[in-house]
Amino acid sequence: MTVRPLEQADFAFEAPVLVVGGGACGLIAALAAVDAGAEVVVLERDPVPTGSTSLSSGFVPACGTRFQAAAGVTDTVELMAADIQRKNAGEADPAIVEAVCRRSGATIDWLADRWGLPFVLLDGFLYPGHGVRRMHAHPDRTGAALLGALRTAAEAAGVEVVGDAHVTALYADAAGRVGGVRVERPDGTGEDVGCGALVLACNGYGGDPAMLREHIPEMADALYFGHSGNRGDAVRWGTALGGEALHMSAYQGHGSVAHPHGVLITWALMMEGGIQVNAEGRRFSDETHGYSEQAVAVLAQPGGVAFDLYDARLHALGLGFEDYREAEKAGAVRRFETPGGDGGRPRPAGGGASGDRSPTRGAAPAARPATRSGATSPASRRWSRRTSRCGSPARCSTPRAGCGSTPPRGC
Ligand SMILES: Cc1cc2nc3c(=O)[nH]c(=O)nc-3n(C[C@H](O)[C@H](O)[C@H](O)COP(=O)(O)OP(=O)(O)OC[C@H]3O[C@@H](n4cnc5c(N)ncnc54)[C@H](O)[C@@H]3O)c2cc1C
Repeated sequence: MTVRPLEQADFAFEAPVLVVGGGACGLIAALAAVDAGAEVVVLERDPVPTGSTSLSSGFVPACGTRFQAAAGVTDTVELMAADIQRKNAGEADPAIVEAVCRRSGATIDWLADRWGLPFVLLDGFLYPGHGVRRMHAHPDRTGAALLGALRTAAEAAGVEVVGDAHVTALYADAAGRVGGVRVERPDGTGEDVGCGALVLACNGYGGDPAMLREHIPEMADALYFGHSGNRGDAVRWGTALGGEALHMSAYQGHGSVAHPHGVLITWALMMEGGIQVNAEGRRFSDETHGYSEQAVAVLAQPGGVAFDLYDARLHALGLGFEDYREAEKAGAVRRFETPGGDGGRPRPAGGGASGDRSPTRGAAPAARPATRSGATSPASRRWSRRTSRCGSPARCSTPRAGCGSTPPRGC
């Protein structure tokens, strides 16, 4: 990943705006450029864009959207910024946090109203650290669906999304002004493409083990659950051009990736009263601190694994998420009867027993007897841990810590 002298370039063609990377960031940048009247080409190393975006849940935090207004949720830039800063212990640059929050609501509304993206405001749980409901998602609740909708919008807007286009070098003049890029094709051929402006939207460096070990050693041995094609190219180019890289040790981890199935188990289950125990059946943390923090806590457990425990009510909540349904299909979700319970008799609506009726198998290390309504308070969590007589079937999945890259801890 080099920066070459501009005079060495032999441009096959030129685009007013080039975007490197066809994930959410690149496609939204492309839509913004179209809105500003530019012609845009997106260069993506994969045959079709997937990126970390399509691995994600695709939940976008934003304040002051029309979706919040319709749901009667009061939210402000100040509230959202304060939530973010509290979550990252004040490590983020307040000016950047403020700018992101200030633009967040208008961006969601713009994507919906200008580009037809279907959004829903998530209901039923609060995301870690967020004081109000502000997670917006595609109705399918997956990052893949969000990316699909973005791609449809971009292509309808005339953006050319070129797959199998691995950008391997930039061309810049002596002053550091970029004039184009080198693209390599899977068949070994290559071409130079010129540009008026370049947007680097190639995400972070989670797919580069050496950079990971250098900057985030505590996660170097974790399962990497982001896109493997994100290998720090933008960081290398940016620093080669004289830029300064900040927050290099910040990352998004995840404490609940079903293993070996490789499916995310929504943290909504933990926020609504589920718990995690280690292979010895011991609870080891306060799960409500968030899934990112929990990646480190899970890795520190014997074997680097933990079990999610929750009841039928939360299983029903999980079934609202495509990833969770996939996890269940893949066999990552198992049902156990609570010792001393009612044998898992069907519950009335709201109690929500569902799924298979298999008898207790193996050793369910602990069963979390849930309160039957709403969020579980810390006090009821403690009570729950010592109690085993709720009669709710316990469910567990077997997560491992994963590690994305990018934004500050606790994203
Ligand atoms: C499991 C998981 C769950 C997540 N959940 C959430 C969530 O719910 N909410 C949230 O806000 N965030 C979440 N995130 C984080 C979020 O998904 C990412 O921050 C976001 O998708 C990044 O988008 P992007 O466009 O920057 O990167 P990506 O979607 O990764 O796209 C980058 C693209 O650049 C391409 N590329 C890289 N290098 C080159 C090159 N040299 N030449 C050409 N192409 C290149 C890659 O192939 C890739 O397609 C999650 C992440 C993961 C992994």
